[in-house]
Parts: sequence; structure tokens; C-alpha cells
Amino acid sequence: MNCPVCKEPMIVVEHEKIELDYCTTCLGVWFDAGELALLLESLDLDVGEFNVSDILTLPEKRIAEKKRRCPVCGKKMRKAAIGHQPEVVIDVCPRGEGVWFDGGEVGQVIKQRLDKSSAEPGAPDRVVNFLGEVFQARE
Ligand SMILES: [Zn+2]
Ligand SMILES: [Zn+2]
Repeated sequence: MNCPVCKEPMIVVEHEKIELDYCTTCLGVWFDAGELALLLESLDLDVGEFNVSDILTLPEKRIAEKKRRCPVCGKKMRKAAIGHQPEVVIDVCPRGEGVWFDGGEVGQVIKQRLDKSSAEPGAPDRVVNFLGEVFQARE
């Protein structure tokens, strides 16, 4: 699969049994819907608290960031925001095939996460934290 930003082939990385596609050029990450489901499962969330369709149907966020095309189906992805403090803008496939996290955005998450004493984080925040871990593990 090619990176939706630089069009370079991505590599598959595994973290805590979750496989994701990672671009070594722009450091972006692609989760397909199935891996996202596994991730939410592994986070041990209460059933019904938060699920993949909640992510795939997040409301569109109107921002100036360039639209990207889904690496699976080639359709333009929708911008959405996940988590809060920090909020991360993600790209969501309109057909629900997966989500894209920009490398730069994840970098920001890691930074903010380091000086944040975590109160009980909500599910979307835990997804964001997981990404932070993936990136720290790769440094
Ligand atoms: Zn890339
Ligand atoms: Zn797609």
C-alpha cells in the first residue's frame, strides 16, 4: 500500500499485536478498520463505550489541510478530530476502510503527552496514546 501523502510504499509495523502501515518518509500511519477494531479491543474498553464506527463516522472538521486520498480505495478522505488535549486531526476513508494519522500530528501528540499527567483518559484519548507509544517504540 502506498502512503497517501508521499505515495511511497509503506511498511507494516506491529505494536502490541496490532499491525499498522507506516510511512518511513513522512511518519504517517494507516490503520485499516479491522486493525482499529483490534486496537479498541486490546485497550480493554467497556463494551459500547466506543467503537470503530464512532471513529469512522466522526463529524467532518472544516480545516484548510489538504484532502488526501484513501490508500485503499482512492477516494478523498474526510477530516475529523479525535481525542482532546491534544486533539488530533485524522483522515477518514468515506467508505469506512480505515483512518490516516499524519506523522507530524502524531509527533505533536507524543510531545504533549509527555508533559501531561494523565487523568483517566477517555477511549479516543487512549487511541491517541497508543499511537504515541508506537512512535516512541520506533525512535
Ligand atoms: Zn508518507
Ligand atoms: Zn477507502
